[in-house]
Amino acid sequence: MEKISVIVPCYNEQDALPLFYEEMEKVRKNDFEDIQFEYIFVNDGSKDETLQEMKALREKDDKVRYISFSKNFGKEAAMFAGLEAATGDYVTLMDADLQDPPSLLKQMYDCIKNEGYDCVATRRVTRKGEPPIRSFFARLFYKIINKMSDVEMVDGARDYRLMTKQMVDAIISVKEYNRYSKGIFSFVGFNTKWLEYENIERVAGETKWSFWKLFKYAIEGITAFSTTPLIISSVIGLIFCFVAFILILVIIIKTLVYGDPTSGWPSMVCIMFFVSGIQLFSLGIIGQYLSKTYLEVKNRPIYIIKETEKDQK
Ligand code: UDP
Ligand code: MG
Repeated sequence: MEKISVIVPCYNEQDALPLFYEEMEKVRKNDFEDIQFEYIFVNDGSKDETLQEMKALREKDDKVRYISFSKNFGKEAAMFAGLEAATGDYVTLMDADLQDPPSLLKQMYDCIKNEGYDCVATRRVTRKGEPPIRSFFARLFYKIINKMSDVEMVDGARDYRLMTKQMVDAIISVKEYNRYSKGIFSFVGFNTKWLEYENIERVAGETKWSFWKLFKYAIEGITAFSTTPLIISSVIGLIFCFVAFILILVIIIKTLVYGDPTSGWPSMVCIMFFVSGIQLFSLGIIGQYLSKTYLEVKNRPIYIIKETEKDQK
């Protein structure tokens, strides 16, 4: 019998988790009669009763497994832990807030089964219900990253997808510490089909993404999958050297020909500010990559488990 593993990263999802479980069970009973299921709930250091909810679900259903982290490691780490723990022939990643409709799962499964895909991924075609400013920056981010990176990132792509075990193994083999899954999914390749759906709002709880967190995530995506910013800063540096060289020539010649009282002080200060600004900007870019390399070299674990369902009895 075939088995599907459902991986759900959860951070403060005490209200959404039971709703998710119910909804998913409905879909399982209707659409997947002769397929075995396994739920892997990953508690990413929640501060509310999420872990208790997981334990309660485990008590009444032993399809439920859970992994509880020692602190909040982020959704990326939670997804990775779930992928490593999954034992199914097919694995799906879903949010706990039902923004990833379980009802799509049957269609996704059929695409893999009948059309020979390795993976079926989803993307939102609308961003309805999201603050307009957030949508604007999200769109801008995808434009920039797709220009800069060889790895294609799809605008509106969700982490919600169904994959074969083979693809999951490939993803697990990418052991980098700075994880940006949307890039990793695309990096490992395989045949991916995209399904589209309208944005759905959260059933309960609140989004975990502040604007600042999203901004950092965007920088993560860019630095993890592109070295173009390094080239940009070198090119800007070169252009400035060239301009400065010309200016020096102009000044020398001008002084020799006309003599020069101490004029030009304000413009000098402006230039100094501008150039040092560019320098700091470039240093910042280099610093970004250096810090990533630093964290990568340290080889820290991506997550630390405090307990799982195996500790319960
Ligand atoms: N999540 C997590 N760790 C975090 C932040 C979020 O495991 O540090 C989980 C969260 O519980 C949810 C999923 O990631 O299941 C998506 O989070 P959210 O709904 O807040 O993001 P959005 O849908 O607004 O992009
Ligand atoms: Mg959500």
